[in-house]
Amino acid sequence: MITAGEKQPLVSTIRERCRVCYTCVRECPAKAIKISNGQAEVITERCIGCGNCIKVCSQNAKVFRREVDIAEILISEGKVAAIVAPSFPAEFSEVPNHRLVVSLIRAIGFHYVAEVAFGADLVARKYKKAFESQNEQPVISSDCPAIVSYVEHYHPALIESLAPVVSPMVAMARVMRKKYGDDLKVVFIGPCIAKKDESEEIDAVLTFRELRDIFLKMKLDTKAVKPTDFDPPTGGKGAIFPVSRGLLNTVEIKEDLFDRNIIIAEGKNDFQDAIKEFENGHISKEHLELLCCEGCIMGPGMSPYPISASSKRFRKRSSVSDYVMDKLERLDQKKWETNMDSFSTLNLERTFTNRDTRSGRPDEEAIVAELKKMGKFEPHDHLDCGACGYDSCEEHAIAIIRGLAEHEMCLPNTIEKLHNYITELNISNEKLANTQEALKQSEKLAGMGQLSAGIAHELNNPLGIITMYSNILKDEAVADDPIRADLELIVEQAERCKKIVGGLLNFARKNQVTLDEVHIDRIMERSISSVINPANVSISLESKVNDPVIFLDYDQMSQVFTNLLKNSIEAMPEEGGNIEVVITDSADEITVHIKDTGCGVAEEHMSKLFTPFFTTKKVGKGTGLGLPIIYGIVKMHKGNIAVQSNANAAKGPTGTTFTITLPRNNKIIPESKETR
Ligand code: ADP
Ligand code: MG
Repeated sequence: MITAGEKQPLVSTIRERCRVCYTCVRECPAKAIKISNGQAEVITERCIGCGNCIKVCSQNAKVFRREVDIAEILISEGKVAAIVAPSFPAEFSEVPNHRLVVSLIRAIGFHYVAEVAFGADLVARKYKKAFESQNEQPVISSDCPAIVSYVEHYHPALIESLAPVVSPMVAMARVMRKKYGDDLKVVFIGPCIAKKDESEEIDAVLTFRELRDIFLKMKLDTKAVKPTDFDPPTGGKGAIFPVSRGLLNTVEIKEDLFDRNIIIAEGKNDFQDAIKEFENGHISKEHLELLCCEGCIMGPGMSPYPISASSKRFRKRSSVSDYVMDKLERLDQKKWETNMDSFSTLNLERTFTNRDTRSGRPDEEAIVAELKKMGKFEPHDHLDCGACGYDSCEEHAIAIIRGLAEHEMCLPNTIEKLHNYITELNISNEKLANTQEALKQSEKLAGMGQLSAGIAHELNNPLGIITMYSNILKDEAVADDPIRADLELIVEQAERCKKIVGGLLNFARKNQVTLDEVHIDRIMERSISSVINPANVSISLESKVNDPVIFLDYDQMSQVFTNLLKNSIEAMPEEGGNIEVVITDSADEITVHIKDTGCGVAEEHMSKLFTPFFTTKKVGKGTGLGLPIIYGIVKMHKGNIAVQSNANAAKGPTGTTFTITLPRNNKIIPESKETR
């Protein structure tokens, strides 16, 4: 047998296959599965080798240590006995004659092929004594290595209650060595993987799955072999051992004692409950027969269907029962008794080791803190849904503290977070769409600016000549000359053209701002006083700024404010209205809100507001250059302009609010130090 230090872990994970469904976490009675970086790892020190995780993993991501190589080396080196677990008829139910299975195993190269059933007969006798003795304290059966490991790791106080009797496997190994020589190597073949780590007395443990792999590799077929019997000593009723109540049936205990004094619990939930009740003293007189699987026939080393013809529990059971019935019919009772007597002095004792791996309950505060991280603040937040693999939210939190679990395993919390991310994503998508729209707009404006500058430049000279000559002609014409009125019209219209061209040039002007230290309230007061507002239009100013000083191009920013105020006045209905100017600030910027109770901007016009020449005003009244110029100036100050408007009286009071945000840090060093 290779030493423990060299051994591979009994159970390990194939990382690429693990889809982190937490089923193994849920099914592991020892809580020996650690979720780390979204991967389920087996913690060897905590693992009891029950193989539940192997059975439940739909992705076949959990695998056990294979020992085929070891068995092959042993066979090549000397005499090796195979001792076969009594569950073999359940594995090979498709083979009509079980003696063929014996021959197949022999064909691998084993010198002896014996059945563990005889070991079970001997062990059963030992148990019988314990169960029937009135003075004996209640015992926990120790034939299931996973149960023994579970008690040693997690209930060390119960070690004293474990029956100090070897398992049928070890008993049979001792029988074989007594009969055939101490140097005999022994390989156990069975349905259990925990057996691989049970005893140093066994040189290798093969599961039925591994046995079938060898048959396949060596191309061994039942057609190629003749049936042979197991090598002696032959087992008796011990062959029924692997099915439920097996040990007790073997023991031949009187029925009344059986029902009153022995509790049988199998499967991961039942055996844990029974141990807990036993430890708490709720059951104090009864012996416990515990199996980690629902009978050894359900062990993780059994081949799955269709490799093995029987996959169902009761079919497997009946295969074993049929085999035992047939066997007992043909059993030479006398010979069996003689064999039993000849091994009656065989030492069947064993000891156990305290492997306490329990960790104390973490700090209450730490548990509460972990629960909070998963959005569990109040008792009603604890859903205890079990999706994480732990029975309660608290157990999950404790596992996180112990480094076994992660917060993301909490499904309800993860779903909630996901919903929040989606909402955040939607908001940033919306922002992105708005920014894209603004970018398109400014590109459009930049293009139009270039075009306007070109046209304005070309028009300026001829326009100057028209203005000059029409003025000369007008001055030369006598007062009552009818042509004078025409010339006056030409001069007037040429002046208008000049204004438009001036506006265009203004609009196209780029990066030409002269920044001064400006007091925002004062520039606003000046702008308000420079617009002419009808008596029925009131303008109010409220400044809430803490620091009113900011660097601005005084003239251009005055133009921005007066133009906005003029637009507001022009939007007023006949009965007039109010314009409220509110100035606020923060450490980084000053914000100016100009809010009017005018007619509002129709929804379909909103996207065109900053487009040059867009106007809803009468010919001669509006040029449609005000807002594009304002936009240009604000942008040159690295600021922002936004508009909100309602033109539909049915939806509420009409009106428009322009909001201009100007950053304090516009990175241009002022020329004049004096605040204007
Ligand atoms: P103009 O004033 O020469 O028409 P602007 O660029 O200043 O050009 O304004 C463009 C258009 O935007 C206006 O014709 C008007 O339809 C609309 N507008 C601007 N400001 C307001 C406001 N405060 N209320 C309602 N509509 C406005
Ligand atoms: Mg205007």
